[in-house]
Amino acid sequence: MTNNIKYFIGNLKMYGNTNYLKSMQKVINFSYKKKHKKFKIVFCPPYTILSDFVKLTKNTQIEVGAQNCHHNEYTGSFTGSISPNMIKSIGAKYIIIGHSENRVTGETNSIINKKIISTLSQKLNVIFCIGETSKEKKLNKTNSVLKKQIINGLKNIKKIDKIIFAYEPVWCIGKGKIPKTNDIKNQFKYIKKILFKNFKTLNPTIVYGGSVDQNNVESLCQINEIKGFLIGGASRKPNKFIDIVKKSIN
Ligand code: PEP
Repeated sequence: MTNNIKYFIGNLKMYGNTNYLKSMQKVINFSYKKKHKKFKIVFCPPYTILSDFVKLTKNTQIEVGAQNCHHNEYTGSFTGSISPNMIKSIGAKYIIIGHSENRVTGETNSIINKKIISTLSQKLNVIFCIGETSKEKKLNKTNSVLKKQIINGLKNIKKIDKIIFAYEPVWCIGKGKIPKTNDIKNQFKYIKKILFKNFKTLNPTIVYGGSVDQNNVESLCQINEIKGFLIGGASRKPNKFIDIVKKSIN
């Protein structure tokens, strides 16, 4: 692998049932064949098949994560919610936190901060989503939005080595478009600058998310700052997902 791509994270969103598990076998077989290459595949299915995914991928190259959690670490009277401890107890290793599809329903930076703290306390990895909306971009607010999301989302957190930052411009998610190469580079540099200033981290893990597919992935791989991808729509089709990985690691 000549580029820096290490992570391929599939976010299945509210898609996938037990039938999907059968097609996952293709991804498992593929990862076996490529196991000498140093990359990680993480799948984040809906809660209903999370446990099935963990069982299916046991002793494989693939790890499993949840798509969200409650901010309470253990238990409580929170109907319909799942805690980081519950997610850990079934063997999942990651939780996506701060996804824009949850931010729009009222998830604030302060709630996100609590979720990240609870998840890290459980020694799980966080996939922390940040990114500007199209309105914020038009108003030239991208940097200030990212700064606020990072500083407030990571309040009272000292160590960020178990956090993967997912830069996801909201205007690219599910829209079939990606930012200009230079814009991605600049945003990654800016995120790195904030993280260095606040956590003295020189080499944070930052992945890109937003309409990654088999057609644009090769050009995205040319951007040295990108260490992996958060893949929504294209992760629903194992062949497409495999194609993305193949094109990135060859
Ligand atoms: C996402 O929702 O995190 C995402 C990246 O979606 P898509 O790839 O479909 O744009």
